[in-house]
Amino acid sequence: MKLPKYSMGIGDRFGCQGVAQLQAMRQAKADGIEVAPVWNKSFREHSIIGTRPQDVRNEADAAVAALKWEGPYFVDADHVHLKTIDDFLKCSNFFTLDVAEAIGRPAPAQDIETFFRQHEGFIGTLEIPGLEAPFTVTAEDIQRIAEKFLFAVQEAGRIYRYILDHKPADTFVTEVSMDETDTPQSPAEMFFILSAIAVEGIPAQTIAPRFSGRFNKGVDYVGDPAQFEAEFRADIAVIAHAVNTFGLPNTLKLSVHSGSDKFSIYPAIRRVLRDFNAGVHLKTAGTTWLEELIGLALADAEGLTVAKDIYAQSLAHFDELCAPYATVIDIDKTRLPSVQTVSGWNSEQFAAALRHDPTCKDYNPHFRQLLHVGYKIAAQMGPRYISLLKRFADRIGPHVTDNIYRRHIVPVFGTD
Ligand SMILES: [Zn+2]
Repeated sequence: MKLPKYSMGIGDRFGCQGVAQLQAMRQAKADGIEVAPVWNKSFREHSIIGTRPQDVRNEADAAVAALKWEGPYFVDADHVHLKTIDDFLKCSNFFTLDVAEAIGRPAPAQDIETFFRQHEGFIGTLEIPGLEAPFTVTAEDIQRIAEKFLFAVQEAGRIYRYILDHKPADTFVTEVSMDETDTPQSPAEMFFILSAIAVEGIPAQTIAPRFSGRFNKGVDYVGDPAQFEAEFRADIAVIAHAVNTFGLPNTLKLSVHSGSDKFSIYPAIRRVLRDFNAGVHLKTAGTTWLEELIGLALADAEGLTVAKDIYAQSLAHFDELCAPYATVIDIDKTRLPSVQTVSGWNSEQFAAALRHDPTCKDYNPHFRQLLHVGYKIAAQMGPRYISLLKRFADRIGPHVTDNIYRRHIVPVFGTD
């Protein structure tokens, strides 16, 4: 099963926006831009909301049927480990094997030794087409990379083979993810990680590295876009070379996690994709839920009341909500509006603070990030929240579609 060149991870916390999300892909297709939808939801999200992986499959199938979508589409078991994968096996055809936690754990000494022997031929200078300067690879580099990453790749192999025990190899897409870790992988590390993936027999079609800078949830990139571009370019060059050198799938591409709303690096991503004629998987995660809130706040008085309640309770449960997302949010508590201030806002004020429009003076990224992790509050509201989503589906849907299409698909994948 091949993942198309351009694909997009579309998370949907409450499972009600599948059609509105797919509508964005349909609009893109009409413009000549083919983007495959990948509905993703992690074990973390399922446990916070109380949903099951099968719910995502049902949502995806229903959206595809409703819009008569004929292109490929996927359901992603997002960030799974051996401990959490079982419920995802039957209903997923995309698996994001998360081995970030295994980085730095030692592989058996004999395996490190074997890895070293397999790769000593690379000692010296390594020319990679598309990279400005060749790498220098020393024996110490290979040893160090094996010590740091080999166990993690072996862990990915264990998860991959576990999936194979349950479904045929050609019926799913495999991603190896190493993004939720502290330090970015260098291009040389990437090269040898990819070799280890090939040795392990994992037909990875996407790899999610950690890039430098901050990829906070729902807000723009924090870091130096020029440095990001250099890294992104190097990674893509390394991938192209590794595909040829190690016999990895020719569909292998980068996966950018927490990729939604990173407006300041989209021009760089687009440039590099064109220079290399490369693809990318862009994961947008929880941004759809924020569009739901905007749509609700603008829909009517009750929608606005519920949106304000969610904020008030999110503020009251700040620590609990933020803890699972500590590495991917940066909220300055002093910049959060008080409950009293927000209770005086009208619909447009609430929407303006939340909407990701960096040019709007009322946009508040701290407010937005807190609400991003505040979906647990809406989940606890249960039917009160879900019934509003259903009642205002027509008001909310266009926000969801427009956000994916205009703010994400066009700047990253657009043709002009
Ligand atoms: Zn991720």
